[in-house]
Amino acid sequence: MNIWAGSTAVVTGGASGLGAATAAALAGAGLKVAIFDLNAETGQAHAAGLDGMFQTVDVADPVSVAAGLDAVTKTMGAPRILVNCAGIGPAAKTVSRGAAHDPAMFAKTIGINLIGSFNCASQAAALMVAADPLGPDGARGVIINTASVAAYDGQIGQVAYAASKGGIVGMTLPMARDLADKGIRVCTIAPGLFLTPLLEGLPEDVQASLGAQVPFPSRLGQPAEYASLVCHIVDNPMLNGEVIRLDGAIRMAPR
Ligand code: NAD
Repeated sequence: MNIWAGSTAVVTGGASGLGAATAAALAGAGLKVAIFDLNAETGQAHAAGLDGMFQTVDVADPVSVAAGLDAVTKTMGAPRILVNCAGIGPAAKTVSRGAAHDPAMFAKTIGINLIGSFNCASQAAALMVAADPLGPDGARGVIINTASVAAYDGQIGQVAYAASKGGIVGMTLPMARDLADKGIRVCTIAPGLFLTPLLEGLPEDVQASLGAQVPFPSRLGQPAEYASLVCHIVDNPMLNGEVIRLDGAIRMAPR
């Protein structure tokens, strides 16, 4: 992290789960961290514990994202690192009991997961391009998105979620190419099954049976393991334009 030490990092969805672990890891590595989330109560408490700042931001709304980035830039300097973790994961089949999938729910999922990631990435990149280049490569920033293994092996009931995550996978290389001459890298992590509040709500035997489906290690991933990959991507200048599965070799079955 040495070239980025003291720089500003924005973590969306940083109030919970993978984003919360990432915010903590980046703060531990010496970055100033801003959390963007809709959950103000938890987000504010977590940011305060990291000596960071919190902004109530709806990533699906470009005006809200612009206001959040403006506040961060004024308070702690323009971001050089952006980690997109905000997301939702509704479950609904294409046709259920004879009725077509609710189009509003499909659009909402794309709006938060895909367009939300794009809003934050494009607006943060516009701030990064104005920053001074750092280190021997002239780096200006790093953008890390969060897809899912559902981008490749979406399960029954994941049509909207998988489409949103597939869009993030498809966006990764062209965005890296768009920003290459500005010294900004773009990577995406596609997590498998991680123990976040979503899965923590399930009974322990269900958690254990999900973990047992992972070839090795046969358990659910820890959010700190996701955060550790974020820190590695930030550190490693050759990682760019790539989607990395972080999944213990799981390939999801249809259900
Ligand atoms: P989580 O529910 O614990 O955290 C998501 C956070 O995003 C919440 O704090 C929520 O308030 C915030 N959020 C939701 N909509 C928002 C919006 N419109 N604007 C701003 N913030 C918003 O989830 P998690 O398990 O930590 O997942 C984080 C990301 O990782 C998601 O994109 C998810 O799809 C992806 N993912 C998670 C897993 C897993 O196993 N946990 C697996 C694959 C992918």
